[in-house]
Amino acid sequence: MQQNHFIKKIHNILNDIVYNVYFQSLLVVIIFDVFYAGINLWNDFFEDMIGSTVIFLLLYVLSVVIVRAIHHLRAGMNVEFNADVKREFHDIVQESKKHLYLVTPYFSPGNVVIEEILSKLRDGVHVEMVLHSSQMQNIETFTFFERFNSLGGKMWHHPKLHSKIYLNDKFCLITSLNLLTSSFDNSFEAGVSFNNRTEIKNVLQHIQKEIIGSDLISEVKADSFSLKFGYCIRSRQKINLNKSRPVEYSEYRSGGSNLNGQYCHLCGEKADTSIDNPYCEAHQTYN
Ligand SMILES: [Zn+2]
Repeated sequence: MQQNHFIKKIHNILNDIVYNVYFQSLLVVIIFDVFYAGINLWNDFFEDMIGSTVIFLLLYVLSVVIVRAIHHLRAGMNVEFNADVKREFHDIVQESKKHLYLVTPYFSPGNVVIEEILSKLRDGVHVEMVLHSSQMQNIETFTFFERFNSLGGKMWHHPKLHSKIYLNDKFCLITSLNLLTSSFDNSFEAGVSFNNRTEIKNVLQHIQKEIIGSDLISEVKADSFSLKFGYCIRSRQKINLNKSRPVEYSEYRSGGSNLNGQYCHLCGEKADTSIDNPYCEAHQTYN
């Protein structure tokens, strides 16, 4: 299912024109007019300007209705897997013009995605995100939120969120893909993307009314976070305090089977530590 990225973009632009309801309706009317030129409809146009204009408009409205119905029946939908799903996500962010909605339980996607989102805010795109409430303990989410919020982004958290929905003005992706570095790097993912206007509207309404409009939703503010900082036992970078994950993700990926560390996960002091025993002598009893 690998698709050439460039061809896909050209295809999208042509799709926009060729599958535009009004463009197609105009075509239908012109074909109809040419077809009936034999019975002088075309001549009438010049003889009886008002009458022909009414016929033209009626034909046009009728055509819009028919073409819309056909559109509804054969909406553009793609089923995608793995790398294609990830590229579709990037496309949805990058191609957003008016608004961008990112609904995802987890948020730790790494710098590329973070900068993509922030640059959209700088371009004046309205960006709204909904995360699971557990992310209010995530130091990466907090660091991102400060920048996101200062650029006008709106963020919500919900205790029951499990959907992954990414939506811009024209496209929607519903997928298994979480916004986590590990998911982008090496997870098997599947997703469905579509550009049907009615469905896009339905999804947007679902996000706005059912999710953001829900009783359990809270808007994220700086004081929504309750963070417990720890240190990566290898790089000493600040990460979430989590005894079972005392190593930052990139270190974990590059470390292979190496389980050892040089710092205490709790205090950051130099110490002989490991993934199994991440605390220094003084903090052995800390849980
Ligand atoms: Zn310590």
